[in-house]
Amino acid sequence: MRKIQMVDLQQQYQQIKPEVEDALKQILDSCAFINGPAVKNFQENMEKYLKVKHVIPCANGTDAIQVSLMALGLNAGDEVITTTFTFIATAEVIALLGLTPVLVDVLPDTFNIDVRAIEQAITSKTKAIIPVHLFGQCANMEDVMTLAKKHNLHVIEDNCQAIGADYTFKDGIQQKAGTIGTMGCTSFFPSKNLGCYGDGGAVFTNDDQLAHQLRGIVNHGMFVRYYHDMVGVNSRLDSIQAAILDIKLKRLDKYAQKRQEAAAFYNKAFDDNEHITTPKTASFSNHVFHQYTLVLHRTEREKVISYMAEKQIPVMIYYPVPLHLQKAYADTRYRQGAFPVSEHLAANVISLPIHTELDEEQLNYITTNLLDAVKLAAK
Ligand SMILES: *Cc1c(COP(=O)(O)O)cnc(C)c1O
Repeated sequence: MRKIQMVDLQQQYQQIKPEVEDALKQILDSCAFINGPAVKNFQENMEKYLKVKHVIPCANGTDAIQVSLMALGLNAGDEVITTTFTFIATAEVIALLGLTPVLVDVLPDTFNIDVRAIEQAITSKTKAIIPVHLFGQCANMEDVMTLAKKHNLHVIEDNCQAIGADYTFKDGIQQKAGTIGTMGCTSFFPSKNLGCYGDGGAVFTNDDQLAHQLRGIVNHGMFVRYYHDMVGVNSRLDSIQAAILDIKLKRLDKYAQKRQEAAAFYNKAFDDNEHITTPKTASFSNHVFHQYTLVLHRTEREKVISYMAEKQIPVMIYYPVPLHLQKAYADTRYRQGAFPVSEHLAANVISLPIHTELDEEQLNYITTNLLDAVKLAAK
């Protein structure tokens, strides 16, 4: 059996190696490393795939969220509401820009932001909401957008984990994750569902004016060379990464299907177990399984993890500490117990290997061993 990894980039690369090598050779021969035609190509293909007017490539997903906030022209002290159960980047850039992150709890079944909690957190200083499409399925964007409209707020979708997911509105209309809010952000970090071989990211928007603003911000606030209209940053996707992404974009839906097949295998094995809750998919979104995350009940998680480690099966905890309990974000507004759902999840979730190259032998080995581990670790 092949060694089991959380994400098997090696094996995936083997499937596309000749195409990648060809593309790299072209870039190397052209020496158009920055802003070359490969970047424009990928941008246009991404726009077509997402059915969005503008894709603005940048250096990583964190930057994508940062430049989105910058494009809104917010003022110090303005409040931005997001979830406490996410990767740190979401709140980090809010704080870095001198804005105030306001954290809210998530729903226990989908792990996504609780829209009723957003509503309760809105004040006269609230300017934007950043829903995170955690682990590969969309937050409730219909309700988020309705709320945002009512209170005149911007919405930035953190779509770093759900690229390619489809959102279905009550009237049946479908839109790609990340194209529903004012702006959407993604990351092309290697282990993401659409990952390059270095760092990369992008912002999506249907708003022409914001797109123009964003293109300036990622380029030192510059529209005409050496004339700087605003304070910007240097945040670019390079040609080599763009060329690799173009190759993988063509396969993104197939990749999602592979992840969904692995998730279905897991679900079948664990659905009846009283110590395990399998991930639930909301009615309005499909799930592209950036992570496959279980909630354990009356089970010693550490014991499960060490048993799996003995069997050479990597498992991870996404995320062990919700943002409101992180040292850097210590805040008198939030104490232990402030967000019980997120705290319960942080203490009881476990993520299994999920990627495009899992075969049945590996899946069998993982499920058999996890069931044994849970039996041993039951309280
Ligand atoms: C990965 C990720 C980011 C940051 O992306 P980078 O490319 O690593 O900067 C932000 N938010 C979420 C939810 C992520 O998963």
